[in-house]
Amino acid sequence: MPCPEYKALLEPYARRELPENQQRLLKDHLAACDDCRAAVRYLRMSDDAIRVALLAGTARQSQEEDERSRRLLRVMVWLGVVGALLVGALYMFLRLMAMRANG
Ligand SMILES: [Zn+2]
Repeated sequence: MPCPEYKALLEPYARRELPENQQRLLKDHLAACDDCRAAVRYLRMSDDAIRVALLAGTARQSQEEDERSRRLLRVMVWLGVVGALLVGALYMFLRLMAMRANG
């Protein structure tokens, strides 16, 4: 099999998705061919880089989600405090009105 035909196998091989019989064929070729060996090394490297980038992307996304839920929690706490103050003020106001009406 000439070199260009092996080149189609390099990518699945780098991703470890090549069937074993083809893997054996390619390994024999890789032992003899610097060009294809370098290509496999490059493919594995870029594959790792992509995986790292994807992982970093996922991490950043969940960080943003964390930040969003923290902000929501802050708003809810704030609304709770304001609501409690309003209810308290209303209660005081009604007590005051009742006291005035009585006395
Ligand atoms: Zn080759």
